[in-house]
Amino acid sequence: MNGADSTYVATAQNPLVGPAPIVGRLVFDHYVLRFESEQITFEIPYSELKLLLEKGDDEEILTFEHTKETGWIIRTLDLEATRNHAFITTNHLRLQWKKLTGRNNLRRAIIATCIFLAAFMLIGLVMSWVGGRMVIHLVNQIAPEKEKSLGDEAYNQYKSRLPAYDNPILMDRLTNVYAELQKGLPNTNFIFDFHLVDQELPNAGSLPGHVFVNRGLFDLVNTPEELAGVLAHEFGHIQRKHTFRLIISHEGPAFVLKTFLGNRDGVLTSIAQNSQLIVGRTFTQEYEREADDAAWDYLVAANINPRGLIDMLEKFKDEETRRELKPGMLSTHPPTSERIKRLEARWNKLPKKTGFFEFPGPGHW
Ligand SMILES: [Zn+2]
Repeated sequence: MNGADSTYVATAQNPLVGPAPIVGRLVFDHYVLRFESEQITFEIPYSELKLLLEKGDDEEILTFEHTKETGWIIRTLDLEATRNHAFITTNHLRLQWKKLTGRNNLRRAIIATCIFLAAFMLIGLVMSWVGGRMVIHLVNQIAPEKEKSLGDEAYNQYKSRLPAYDNPILMDRLTNVYAELQKGLPNTNFIFDFHLVDQELPNAGSLPGHVFVNRGLFDLVNTPEELAGVLAHEFGHIQRKHTFRLIISHEGPAFVLKTFLGNRDGVLTSIAQNSQLIVGRTFTQEYEREADDAAWDYLVAANINPRGLIDMLEKFKDEETRRELKPGMLSTHPPTSERIKRLEARWNKLPKKTGFFEFPGPGHW
């Protein structure tokens, strides 16, 4: 079949002869490649052929160029030509072909690898998104009472490290600001306790059903709006169930899937068993951003000037610098300055910049 007498459909083109390709056939002879057609027949010695592989619409085109300047270019779609006996036994052709296909195979291998990696990454992204949605779905099913009791359990383990600070004036400030902020919270079933903590470090924190505010925070807070900003951020963590999400995510995707498909009480048991995780936890960048965004929404919905949150972050930033501290309520990730930048962008987009709720004057809130 692939002997010397095999022929292959081909076209020949030469600008000196005319623009249109001439249809004919290729014959591999002893030392020459012959193109035969009704109009023209010519021969090119194998040693004067340059081989190329051109890309057609769907296929590859084997192309022979005459290296001497006669201008002939011969093309064939019939790659069987490369299996012709003469093609194989002629070193000059065989080596060129080997080089071309080698390069092509490498390119194919690279493309296949890239496609595989892209698919792999895509599946990974989809899985992590689905996983994230599952976790959110699971935590949203925790009843408020259950949430509170799990939070209480964690608090009981935690509270020995949190010396209570008895100060009715500061507690009044918290409850007064909360009375306004509450109007912007989406969850009317929100059950929680405030705790004043006898610590000098200006900080706040939360557990499900518990919000902690250090005595030292009040040295930093100048306005009710600033305090509202801090509280709104902690409510953001609670309402978005960050502690539960952190614990469930920590268990890994298999656990999430198993729980999602099967016995959901397992989640609660696991949360209870893992409540020690809550102590000293840091949230991810994603959660901090979510808490900021949620806080912003609550403040705006409650008609409290949300710039209080930005002002507070500015103060935390200064405080971090001054004390060379790792940020507290404000965890290291993302950096406080980045969080300020994000909220400034939200402020710029806010249609309303005045006419917010006015808290009673200094000394009365
Ligand atoms: Zn936070």
